[in-house]
Amino acid sequence: MKAEMAEQVAAFPARFGRVPCLAVILVGEDPASQSYVKGKAKAAEVVGIESRVILRPEETSEQELLDLVAGLNADDAVDGILVQLPLPKHISEDKVISAIDRSKDVDGFHPLNVAGLWMKRPCTVACTPKGIIRMLDEAGVEISGKRAVVLGRSQIVGLPVAKLLLDRNATVTICHSRTADLAQVTRNAEILVVAIGRPKFVTADMVSDGTVVIDVGVNRNPEDGKLCGDVDFAAIEPKASVITPVPGGVGPMTIACLMENTIECFLARMGAKA
Ligand code: NAP
Repeated sequence: MKAEMAEQVAAFPARFGRVPCLAVILVGEDPASQSYVKGKAKAAEVVGIESRVILRPEETSEQELLDLVAGLNADDAVDGILVQLPLPKHISEDKVISAIDRSKDVDGFHPLNVAGLWMKRPCTVACTPKGIIRMLDEAGVEISGKRAVVLGRSQIVGLPVAKLLLDRNATVTICHSRTADLAQVTRNAEILVVAIGRPKFVTADMVSDGTVVIDVGVNRNPEDGKLCGDVDFAAIEPKASVITPVPGGVGPMTIACLMENTIECFLARMGAKA
């Protein structure tokens, strides 16, 4: 996917006079966020997209951040704006995300993009849910008519991926921390998407043979400190027909979709189609 995008972007200078530009804002020094931002800048480099990483100290005020976003909104050379979450507690994430120009919202978190997804209007779809559907398609999984179970109902993963699965005619069940008899529900899944943020929470007895398992979780395994998913990969892999590893599964696909969203925002601003 990245090679195809690199080829597409290589043709842009001749066609449009420049390549797409993605601005990534990081407030503070959270190591996980630093590593995500690095990964995004690296992917942009591979695809040939210009990236501007803007670092601001933890003490940055909400107004300073809003002013920074306003400046990037007004900057014609910037096609995509991403504010790395989470933000420090004294800054309202809702306010900052809503302040990003909708047409530059490459993360798809702006309320108008979220509304567009639910109302089936043209919009930028959030990268992780978009990437999950792409992975299912690339694995040749038929979604239509399947029983899909989504574990987790966050605004950035669980809910949008459930909507995308529904739009592809799956029958979708959304589970959360108060779901009773969770294992009974998950055992009924033909496609199981897990996004809860609990290391190895989904055990082999919760999954039926032949299930397609998409593990979104990124956690530190308390036993060895290594990265692991929400799913006990070693125990479930023999039962699953498809299973995504952590790391190396949903994460890289999310970043690839971020590059795709940046290209789409760029082309829309240029008044062109892909
Ligand atoms: P979140 O906002 O913390 O939401 C967690 C969801 O899981 C909530 O809906 C919660 O239910 C549910 N939950 C928690 N404990 C549960 C339990 N014991 N049983 C059933 N449901 C439970 O998380 P998120 O932002 O969606 O992220 C989830 C995970 O995905 C995290 O590990 C995060 O790091 C990872 N992630 C990965 C990517 C990627 O690109 N790979 C992108 C985003 C997030 P309630 O609603 O009832 O509280």
